[in-house]
Amino acid sequence: MQHDFFKYQAQTTPFASGFEVEKAEGAYIYGKDGKRYLDFVAGVSANTLGHSHPKVVEAIKQQAEKYLHVMVYGEYALEKPVALCRLLAEATPDPLEVTYLVNSGAEAIDGALKLAKRYTGREQIISMKWSYHGNTHGALSVSGNELHKREFRPLLPMVDFIEFDCEAELEKITNRTACVIAETIQGAAGFLLPSPDYFKKLKARCEAVGALLILDEIQPGFGRTGKLFAFEHYGIVPDILVMGKGMGGGVPVGAFMSSAEIMKTLAHSPKLGHITTFGGNPLIAAAGYATLREVLDSGLMDEVEKKERLFRELLVHPKIKSINGRGLMLAVELSSAEETLAVAGRCMAKGLIVFWQLYRNQYMRISPPLNLTEEQIREGCGIILEALEEL
Ligand code: PLP
Repeated sequence: MQHDFFKYQAQTTPFASGFEVEKAEGAYIYGKDGKRYLDFVAGVSANTLGHSHPKVVEAIKQQAEKYLHVMVYGEYALEKPVALCRLLAEATPDPLEVTYLVNSGAEAIDGALKLAKRYTGREQIISMKWSYHGNTHGALSVSGNELHKREFRPLLPMVDFIEFDCEAELEKITNRTACVIAETIQGAAGFLLPSPDYFKKLKARCEAVGALLILDEIQPGFGRTGKLFAFEHYGIVPDILVMGKGMGGGVPVGAFMSSAEIMKTLAHSPKLGHITTFGGNPLIAAAGYATLREVLDSGLMDEVEKKERLFRELLVHPKIKSINGRGLMLAVELSSAEETLAVAGRCMAKGLIVFWQLYRNQYMRISPPLNLTEEQIREGCGIILEALEEL
């Protein structure tokens, strides 16, 4: 199978591992090599409840037996997409109320940018240096790493970048700005947290000049920081909230959410201002609803802080320079990308999956399922320390 993977499936890196998966359950992936691997990556922050959570699988089965795709987005009132949108409205603060369901994070970013331009009638978008928002033309245009962009120009015009967490740069947001887009925790850059009051200042500046604030919660979302969304730690509410990844419990999904007043502008002048065939797909929405229900009802979010503390207590080693991040999105800083790669390789050989951050490869990613147990945290951290010792 590996031969066919490298030959027939388009490759995105010369370094793909080609690891062959037999099955996955809870916090474990079982390889075709007959070995069991503890998963500290969770499909890159996507498997909120671990692999194939029984409630998510049951919801998918039940929906599959009723109907799959029946109509394009926005025509029919279907039980699961409606229930998911309603639950999101109940679980988030006002004025967030109306959700547009799409198929991926990047697509949700594109929808959010269009919505902000349409609502404000303005053209300029301000984003953050070192941000990552996805790989469609729109999402790439607002991502803040030139290395990944320059071969794909021309991209969207009228996009300007400011330094993340820099108060002095906020004056660049003016009454020409349609929106400011930011991650609440910068993911690809190494899980960088802003200063505690940065987002309050950013939101105040946006309000003062009439620009909308779009927050990308595609990674911290769905409980990873101990709150459903990380903005809840900062005492603000965005005008447009973007989510994806962990929302689906293992199926492809994205969404953007806003007030009824802002969102309704996509339905007129022109009508059909944003359309998609599969967005709001009932199978995906069934999985999303089951995931959100379980995240809200299980108490898992209350345990996140304790689990973070345990990780930080255990991951002490002279080769670990720092640990960025919050909750169950932690980036362990080693001295070089080569060192991180070597540690990840050794961990894999010992039955633990870790990864690295997209832009800053010296950071080792830990973003496990929220229901990882204390015992599994001890087991995995033990393997990381062993791997570091062997370097
Ligand atoms: N925004 C952030 C913060 C992400 O981490 C990602 C994916 O890694 C995206 C956007 C893009 O999401 P997707 O890969 O589902 O298009």
